[in-house]
Amino acid sequence: MSTPSPSAPTRINLRRPDVLELVQAQVQSHYRSELVERLRAAGQVTTPDGQITIKLAKEFGFCYGVERCIDLAYAARKVFPDQPLYILGEIIHNPEVNDQIRAMGVRFLSGPHKQADIEDLNRGDVVIIPAFGTEVSIRAQLEAKGCQFVDTTCGDVMSVWKRVRSYAREEVTSIIHGKAYHEETKATSSQATANRGHYLVVLTLADTDYVCRFIVEGGDKGEFLAKFKGAYSEGFDPETHLAVVGVANQTTMMRGETEEVQRRIRAAIEQRFGAQNLAQHFRYFDTICGATQDRQDALQKLLAEPLDLLLVIGGYNSSNTAHLAEMGEAVRPTYFIKNAAEMVSSQLIRHWNQHDHGAVETRGWLPSGRLTVGVTAGASCPNNLIEDCIRRLLGLRGVAADDLLKA
Ligand code: SF4
Repeated sequence: MSTPSPSAPTRINLRRPDVLELVQAQVQSHYRSELVERLRAAGQVTTPDGQITIKLAKEFGFCYGVERCIDLAYAARKVFPDQPLYILGEIIHNPEVNDQIRAMGVRFLSGPHKQADIEDLNRGDVVIIPAFGTEVSIRAQLEAKGCQFVDTTCGDVMSVWKRVRSYAREEVTSIIHGKAYHEETKATSSQATANRGHYLVVLTLADTDYVCRFIVEGGDKGEFLAKFKGAYSEGFDPETHLAVVGVANQTTMMRGETEEVQRRIRAAIEQRFGAQNLAQHFRYFDTICGATQDRQDALQKLLAEPLDLLLVIGGYNSSNTAHLAEMGEAVRPTYFIKNAAEMVSSQLIRHWNQHDHGAVETRGWLPSGRLTVGVTAGASCPNNLIEDCIRRLLGLRGVAADDLLKA
């Protein structure tokens, strides 16, 4: 392996057939579920006594980006069995998967389980960049130290970066529909500033309407900057930087909402500058990822069927999972749970309220009598956790999961 230089970090080829074969076996042993695969193939299963039907969404769980990033992290451990291995933060938004990565001796550089600082790293140390990517400045810091990268940034995230970079080069302000504190959005917005551009992050349609009013009528600049504190680039001036804008989004937002954000901003720009000048003042490219879209579409179909309740399984800081829960709760009793233990008893369930960012408890959540339960899971949720939840649910109604497989 060549000696890394600060300006040219070593990228490691982990995709060797011998390594990948070992990785596949280990990943399967950690996250695979035969029960879930059989349910996926059947679509729905009813217990022999006809009391419970479980319907799985057609698309759920690990996406291609997550599978790739987990494979690469496991491969890094195999290729560097004795060397300290670091990761910038959570590999994906799932506590069990992060525990597994920690159990493999990978040291976290941020978050509640932080074990080291970037400052502690030395030339040649191996650092995993998670699927969300990282900020340009952090990458530069690692490069300056001569670290080696295992870069698992998802290609769909990099497509958004490309778009934001091109906005910045054309002096177009990026309006990013997303969560300003989310790792992916921080990485994406850093692409704007690294290319001398500006950005503004909007989360809700109410945020969007506020921005639209400012575009059309102007307003109190101080109030604007206070309202969006922490969600815009240094030196951002709403009176100057909202004249030419391009909309982009965090890859895991709700497609319908992202489309609405761009429609409203486009309409405001048109009102302010005239339809004939729209092309000079407005750009838009849809950057919702395919996996997010597939999971939302599949859930929409599942929700059109008769269901008594919906279980949405995934980490509580997972953006795409929160959106699945949001879709469910609009039409059915929906419980967003991170694992089987949240189903405390047939009377009590603990679940996440993504609007208040807190856990809540609901009593009487599991009706008696015949029951049809819909199940879906976010892109960062492994099948073994889904299996645990299905087993727990059936167990609470006195059914063994193995009976389900015989049905
Ligand atoms: S959710 Fe989409 S953007 Fe994120 S890792 Fe998966 S495929 Fe990539």
